[in-house]
Amino acid sequence: MHSIQAAKEQLEDLLLEYIDFDGSMGRLFYDVAFLCKSMHSHVTKEKSIQQRNPFNVTRATEYINVVELPFSTEQSGEPKNYHGAYLTSSRFGTLSQMKRETGCTIKICGDDFRVPLRYCAPYVFIFGGHANAVDRAVEIIKVAIRNHMKDCKCTLKEENTRHRI
Ligand SMILES: [Zn+2]
Repeated sequence: MHSIQAAKEQLEDLLLEYIDFDGSMGRLFYDVAFLCKSMHSHVTKEKSIQQRNPFNVTRATEYINVVELPFSTEQSGEPKNYHGAYLTSSRFGTLSQMKRETGCTIKICGDDFRVPLRYCAPYVFIFGGHANAVDRAVEIIKVAIRNHMKDCKCTLKEENTRHRI
């Protein structure tokens, strides 16, 4: 089992180099963990999972999760405009509430959020040391997204139901 674990980590590290540490690496590591059930058997209520954090230079194992961002389009076929700036705006206090209550950290990944992304849609990457704390942070982020969507015309994509809010 130990050598399989090592092989999995080597493969992950190769993938990181292959995508040149693109901002999609958080989603990649989350999805790999989610698919490798035998090595990542503990999935929480909010589907947080224990996995190495690719944004951490030491690749420390933490609980990680991914939350979709809503988007708007001017016209169908036009590029999507993802909405996430309110999550870190001090006006709404979401980030400070989350840090205070959970000690977790988020990274908003996307070209518009200073984390360039080539291989997937923009998303929120959430991580922390404890399962319950990460689950609570996910709830706080989802509430903030729902509140934003009440006053905005943006929407969440329907085809990926795993992280539907
Ligand atoms: Zn919006």
